[in-house]
Amino acid sequence: MPWRNELRAEQERRRRQQLWRTRPSINSPQGTRIKRDDRHLVNFCSNDYLGLANSPELIAAMAGAAHTWGVGSGASHMVCGHMASHHALEEELAAFVGAERAILFSTGYMANLAIPAAFLDRNDLVLEDRLNHASMIDAGLLSRAKMIRYQHCDIAQLKNLLRENTARRKMVMTDAVFSMDGDQAPIELLRGATARHGALLVLDAAHGFGVLGANGAGSLASLDQHPGRNVLMVGTLGKAAGSFGAFVAGDDIYIETLLQHARPYIYTTALPPAVAETTRVALRIIAKDSWRRETLSSHIRHFRSGAASLGLTLPASQTPIQPILLGDETSALEASRLLEEAGLMVTPIRPPTVPQGSSRLRITLSALHTVDDIDRLLESLGSSAFRRVSRAAKQ
Ligand SMILES: *Cc1c(COP(=O)(O)O)cnc(C)c1O
Repeated sequence: MPWRNELRAEQERRRRQQLWRTRPSINSPQGTRIKRDDRHLVNFCSNDYLGLANSPELIAAMAGAAHTWGVGSGASHMVCGHMASHHALEEELAAFVGAERAILFSTGYMANLAIPAAFLDRNDLVLEDRLNHASMIDAGLLSRAKMIRYQHCDIAQLKNLLRENTARRKMVMTDAVFSMDGDQAPIELLRGATARHGALLVLDAAHGFGVLGANGAGSLASLDQHPGRNVLMVGTLGKAAGSFGAFVAGDDIYIETLLQHARPYIYTTALPPAVAETTRVALRIIAKDSWRRETLSSHIRHFRSGAASLGLTLPASQTPIQPILLGDETSALEASRLLEEAGLMVTPIRPPTVPQGSSRLRITLSALHTVDDIDRLLESLGSSAFRRVSRAAKQ
């Protein structure tokens, strides 16, 4: 068996390249205060942007729903696992984002994985932004369609690809808010280009849902638009919604096709009904508590102006994702370690999650951070030790 020696050599190579991954062990609920092993840290790396994951309302909702509905859903949606809780949540999600219909998935990864394979075959084409989330990249590969990745937000290149390809069906998939950079896709231009070429546009709103738009319905809502016609929206429920799961929203004809054909929908156990009930309550809080979005926006402005006065260059992100690009892996690890010494948790992000040479700290802000928390972070980013690391970093 050559297996063991080969695997050991691969693992050693990964360690040498500073790409070894470990899972921080968290000994507390999610929140802006978190316990890593025995250390209390201020958390700047969660996607719980609105601070709902450990909110008393959601805890009560889940506990109550477990008493009413039990724990497991027992089966897939097609068999006998599609419970009233799932159905009500689907209807509420559709109304929330202004779509004809929505379908619930167990995770955002599975929702994305489902889409190209459900609509496309080997005569078709899927175009993806270079910086798309791994789940969309995997989805394109899993479908039999030809996949081409265009340069980040390069609409001119996208238009050329749409024009010159004679595929039967064309699909364009993109993050609406890019998960590692926090910048936003040019939705109006994407809509225009896809509509002109009869392509289906799939917008992954994982990081915009709950955060962007007046009621938190996401990037489309922030432009006064909604999923429909040639646009499908993917939303995830484990980030700002503080719960778990995901959905795809759009016109009925597309959603029904997913229900009929999407293998990651059909061949898996439905979410626990209590999770669906919890998300229903989360939707009401998202709509009602506009203070969470307002606080978040004010934190984003405060952080960016503080970072600018320290001379740090941040990418153009108006979202809670505020990366500090370092470059090489060793510097990203060292920067993260320095922040941890100061009581702050910011995990480093390295390839293949981000492109080679763009290792970074991915700072995320929450509505439950205080201005003091952010000032503490800024102070550490301005420290001489941090400056030394960032100056030495190889971009
Ligand atoms: C997190 C994320 C997903 C996956 O969602 P899960 O529900 O965590 O599986 C999909 N797309 C993007 C852009 C994400 O950031």
